[in-house]
Amino acid sequence: MPEVIRTGVLVVGAGPVGLVLAMDLARRGVPVLAAETRRRGEPPSVKCNHVSARSMEALRLLGVAARVREAGLPADYPHDVAYRTTTTGTEIARIRIPSRAGRATAAEGPDTWWPTPEPPHRVNQIFLEPILFDHAVSALKVPVLDRTRIDDFEQDDEGVVATGTNLNTGEPVRIACSYLVGCDGGRSTVRRRIGARLAGDEVIGRVQSTYFRSRELLALLRHPPAWGTFSVNPRRSGNVYAIDGRETWLLHNYLGSDEPELDSVDRDWAIRQILGVGPQFQYEILSKEDWVARRLVADRFRDRRVFICGDASHLWVPMAGYGMNAGIADAMNLSWLLAATLRGWGDERILDAYEAERQPITEQVSRFAMNHALSMQARREAVPADIEQPGPQGDAVRAAFGRALYDLNVQQYCSGGLNFGYFYEGSPLVAYDREQAPPYTMYDFQSSTVPGCRAPHFWVGDGRSLYDALGPGYSLLRLDRRVDVTPLLRAAAASQVPFSVLDIKERDAGPAYERNLTLVRPDQHVAWRGDEPPADAQALIDLIRGARPCPT
Ligand SMILES: Cc1cc2nc3c(=O)[nH]c(=O)nc-3n(C[C@H](O)[C@H](O)[C@H](O)COP(=O)(O)OP(=O)(O)OC[C@H]3O[C@@H](n4cnc5c(N)ncnc54)[C@H](O)[C@@H]3O)c2cc1C
Repeated sequence: MPEVIRTGVLVVGAGPVGLVLAMDLARRGVPVLAAETRRRGEPPSVKCNHVSARSMEALRLLGVAARVREAGLPADYPHDVAYRTTTTGTEIARIRIPSRAGRATAAEGPDTWWPTPEPPHRVNQIFLEPILFDHAVSALKVPVLDRTRIDDFEQDDEGVVATGTNLNTGEPVRIACSYLVGCDGGRSTVRRRIGARLAGDEVIGRVQSTYFRSRELLALLRHPPAWGTFSVNPRRSGNVYAIDGRETWLLHNYLGSDEPELDSVDRDWAIRQILGVGPQFQYEILSKEDWVARRLVADRFRDRRVFICGDASHLWVPMAGYGMNAGIADAMNLSWLLAATLRGWGDERILDAYEAERQPITEQVSRFAMNHALSMQARREAVPADIEQPGPQGDAVRAAFGRALYDLNVQQYCSGGLNFGYFYEGSPLVAYDREQAPPYTMYDFQSSTVPGCRAPHFWVGDGRSLYDALGPGYSLLRLDRRVDVTPLLRAAAASQVPFSVLDIKERDAGPAYERNLTLVRPDQHVAWRGDEPPADAQALIDLIRGARPCPT
């Protein structure tokens, strides 16, 4: 029998979601161990290109946002999204998104007004993951068993024992833990082992994707470069993402409904049509990254002591750049709940909130993403035949089609609602009041302190981010120092709930903070608000630590 390794939480899979979960648990003082089949430093495939503002806020808490923002495209490379007849053809629309160098000072653009200390960032997963991995291991001291595959586990009331294989030696591995979280991606073993089933739409579309190197493409562009460039012409529409801003590119060729196989279309022909280049153009294929667009969400995210998180629990077409980002939000939701239980102040029932909160949100995001994918498919199928025609008539066609593409796509590339608009309804940990949270779309949102919403960000008087000023546990924001919060402090102390009071100025907080008191959870969502402490402060504290049912 192999020696048993013991830990608090075993994270299966050290992709971006597993790494964020492990880091946040470590930051909260929870013993954690990650197991990953890849070898240390082995890059992932070239997939995700967008780290959302909300994910950057999480990375800020973990102390790695600044490093991530330094990575990716050259500092002055625009993060814009351009629409053209071909990559090297005529530009018909452009969504302006500031470059890394311009981000801090940019005031114009559809996402520059967002109330966040950390605007979004465009960087490919191949650059992002090594930074997260290094920070997890070096700064947060997360132990990672690399080249280790978790194959199975057993659980009882006391804990979980996972079994796996050291892929270097073939030796068996046994890990005993209090909780196990499957962050093991779309083909999740953990998902299958807890009997969760993916439900939704198996196939929304197929995409022939090619990661390639070309040293000449940048010089062939007739317009300033953009992070993403969409080609729309009657022959072949698709898009290209700049990966290193110099010579590497990821090209997506979206197959039509009459092209049922991933190799239904000649790859080289399609690449040349999308780029708008002739047979003399040279490029080197680095990898083929073909994928099927789906909309699938697991019917359960948990079986007792075992959870699933990220792509293990949901898979959808990465419209709005939201696959990994939703997974990071899952991780930041689950980590504090696990920490509350393991550190002793959270009742075991606090863990029920994970599925209750995250499953409905991921179901919503999956639908936003699918609807967007279908709208884009309709646009690709309706490219005007004369879009490349020179002269005023062609100009008018391009202007109209460009406007339509801008209006549709600014919603996905500047998806404020997915970052800041979503709220937790029906959570067992939230003391709802009579007010409804404002509705949101993929693009639009309204900052709100209705319980369940993300506590709107503002800069506190000394120029610090509210999120840097919040304590690691629950934080009570007090607008009026005359309000006596002793009953809440006493009740929290009696239950050992980490609880701090932050006095803030009304003029800093802004109009969304409508009450004297706003109670913010460790994940920055509002748990309760009021003008004075509730009559039964202990009941509120019991609610937020999972020890009593939500009052109706
Ligand atoms: C073309 C494309 C573009 C995308 N663009 C974006 C984007 O812009 N924004 C965005 O948010 N998302 C995007 N996504 C989605 C994003 O890539 C995924 O959502 C993200 O990688 C999921 O992270 P994860 O950690 O949950 O899973 P993964 O990245 O799949 O990581 C899972 C890890 O678990 C390991 N593992 C698996 N099984 C085991 C086991 N049994 N034992 C131990 N380890 C195991 C794997 O080796 C892997 O490292 C895109 C996806 C595609 C295909």
